[in-house]
Amino acid sequence: MKLFSLFRKKTKTFPYKCSCCGKIYDTAPLCFGTDFPDYYLSIPPQEREQRIELQQSLCVVDKEQFFHRGRLTISVINNAENLIFDVWTSISKKNFETRVNLWEDPLRTDHEPYFGWLQTIVPAYGNTLNIKTIATEQSVGLIPEIRIIEEGHQLKVDQDNGITYERALEIVDKILQDQHQKN
Ligand SMILES: [Zn+2]
Repeated sequence: MKLFSLFRKKTKTFPYKCSCCGKIYDTAPLCFGTDFPDYYLSIPPQEREQRIELQQSLCVVDKEQFFHRGRLTISVINNAENLIFDVWTSISKKNFETRVNLWEDPLRTDHEPYFGWLQTIVPAYGNTLNIKTIATEQSVGLIPEIRIIEEGHQLKVDQDNGITYERALEIVDKILQDQHQKN
C-alpha cells in the first residue's frame, strides 16, 4: 500500500490558526470567492437594482457591460489542495451571448477561450484589476477556468509555476486578516 502514496500528493490536515484572532480552522481554507465583479461597486447602491442584472455566475450592467465568473487556480506544489479564487472577468457582448447559447452544450469545451479583463482584487497580489485573462469553458455545470496572461504580473508567474504550501499560507493569512478586521 505504500506505493500508492507515490501516485498522490500528500494530504495535509493540520489545523490552521488565524494569526490575527486565533480562530481555528480544521484545515487552512484555500478557496475564496466574490459574489460580483468589482465594477458592481462603482454603481451607486440606489441604482444597482435598476442597472445591474446579477446571477450567480453572470452579470450585466446597463445592458452593455458584460461579466462572468470563473475559477482561478494556483497550483500548490507540495499540497493536495490548490489555492483557488472564484473571480470575475469582463467578457465581450458577442462572447457573452456565445456563452449563454452554449450553456447546456457538452461541446462547449471545444470553444476557443474568451478574452477578458480581471474584475476581482486578488489579495496579496497588488493591483489585479483589469489585467489580461482568458477563460476556458469547462464541462456543463462548471464555471470556466481563468488563466492570467498579463506578462510580468506576479499572479501570472505564480499561476504558471505554482507556489509552495508555505507561500499559500501567507496569502491565506493575509486574506483572513482582512476579512476578520472588516467584521
Ligand atoms: Zn483572524
